[in-house]
Amino acid sequence: MEHIRSIEELARWKSEGREKKLGFVPTMGALHDGHLSLVRLSQSKCDRTLVSIYVNPTQFNNAEDLAKYPNTLEADLQSLEMTGCDAVFLPDAQMLYPDGLKSRSFDFEGLDRYMEGAGRPGHFEGMATVVTRFFELIGPDLAIFGEKDYQQLCIIRQVVAKEDWPVEIVPAAISREADGLAMSSRNMRLLPYERKNAAQIFAVLSSAVAELNPRETNPKAFENRCADALNAIPSIHVEYVSCCDAATLQQVDEFNTNRPTRVFAAVQCGKVRLIDNLPLF
Ligand code: AMP
Repeated sequence: MEHIRSIEELARWKSEGREKKLGFVPTMGALHDGHLSLVRLSQSKCDRTLVSIYVNPTQFNNAEDLAKYPNTLEADLQSLEMTGCDAVFLPDAQMLYPDGLKSRSFDFEGLDRYMEGAGRPGHFEGMATVVTRFFELIGPDLAIFGEKDYQQLCIIRQVVAKEDWPVEIVPAAISREADGLAMSSRNMRLLPYERKNAAQIFAVLSSAVAELNPRETNPKAFENRCADALNAIPSIHVEYVSCCDAATLQQVDEFNTNRPTRVFAAVQCGKVRLIDNLPLF
């Protein structure tokens, strides 16, 4: 696996395989099997796969979250090597932000109105700034984004369509631990008892979804039922539970089983913020 640390090395690596279909998987490192599933998906669709590892400061609105973001570079490189990844791009801030660490401005047309957009001001501008900079430098044919960060996936799709980036955005299903917890780099910061309690997030949401009768329950009542059950789990404090249209991400006032809809949750588990989402219909 090629380790690429400069724009010149990237240009050389790209020129060596110009005619090959290139898949790109952006990550912030601390890789787990969820990330590797994205790499495998890219490998199944492309001739070459490049993974970036960069903890992007402009998408953090909480300095402590940024400072505590796990760094496991050696293990990450080993996992990527074992997965058969072709290249890893390890840029620094100067390469990505030659004019200083600031975000571009975007009009996400309301996709950022709720959920992570409401709770983390500037997060999506920072994320879209770095992802479009990666597209500019790497020029991938295809880029993979996990449904774990469903709102991010929708926003990137909208930016790509609006700004006409010649890249196909491919979603990857959420990878879960055996007990259902959505894999996340942040899970390693959970204390053992918090980790055990965190498994209940998926248990609560999936059983609420299984029991939902959309003719008898409205979204508000469903959200409240989920939030109460999540708040009853030790260590867990709910930030939001929202039922949103899967395409527009607008919160729904009534259920329409003909429109794809998902339930989204963000909770604080001890000191760690966790998110998850599931399809309703
Ligand atoms: P991150 O390193 O957290 O920025 O994530 C990099 C990419 O991996 C994003 O597209 C995430 O949505 C995706 N990802 C992270 N965790 C998971 C997971 N459990 N299942 C699927 N994709 C994931």
